[in-house]
Amino acid sequence: MPELVFFSGTMDCGKSTLALQIGHNRSARGLQGVIFTRDDRAGEGKLSSRLGLVTEAVEAAESMDLYAYLVGLLSHGGRVDYVIVDEAQFLAPEQIDQLARVVDDLELDVFAFGITTDFRTRLFPGSQRLIELADRIEALQVEALCWCGARATHNARTVGGEMVVEGEQVVVGDVSRPAAETGYEVLCRRHHRRRMTSDSARAGALSPDVLPVASD
Ligand SMILES: [Zn+2]
Repeated sequence: MPELVFFSGTMDCGKSTLALQIGHNRSARGLQGVIFTRDDRAGEGKLSSRLGLVTEAVEAAESMDLYAYLVGLLSHGGRVDYVIVDEAQFLAPEQIDQLARVVDDLELDVFAFGITTDFRTRLFPGSQRLIELADRIEALQVEALCWCGARATHNARTVGGEMVVEGEQVVVGDVSRPAAETGYEVLCRRHHRRRMTSDSARAGALSPDVLPVASD
């Protein structure tokens, strides 16, 4: 039975690397897939991983009907054996419904990869719809770590090095460029709640006024 699978995780947990790996494994078996992505760090129509691999992808624009796109491909003699969607958190809820229809009506596997929650710990609309509709949800095994060594479960946004909890839900930034105007860092829930990034923890360690982190 074809499935809609949601591979979820924090930023920097290896989602795109796994997406590329799944594509590679299937094309090695002679299967052809369509890869959708949205706002990839490498630019429009690209799926890239932090390990430096890049492949061509179809940019899933905001108003694009993903189901209709695939039906169009198939009806023009194109071959599609499976579908990969990266950055699925950025898709509109209706686009996730379209993906469910791809599974049910076109009988294709759809592997969606995305971040579950935003920098305010709220579900992204696309991820929420995936949780509601997916046949299966996989929490990625390649776990990112907080600076304290605990499992990083939350995404923090930093502006000028300070963690912020207000602002637009989607602002392009990257964990690999923390010095940029808007950056991101993955944290455990405890340190997300305390707004303690690796930078502020380092600064706090130098200040005698700050309670030790391990106090609870
Ligand atoms: Zn922590």
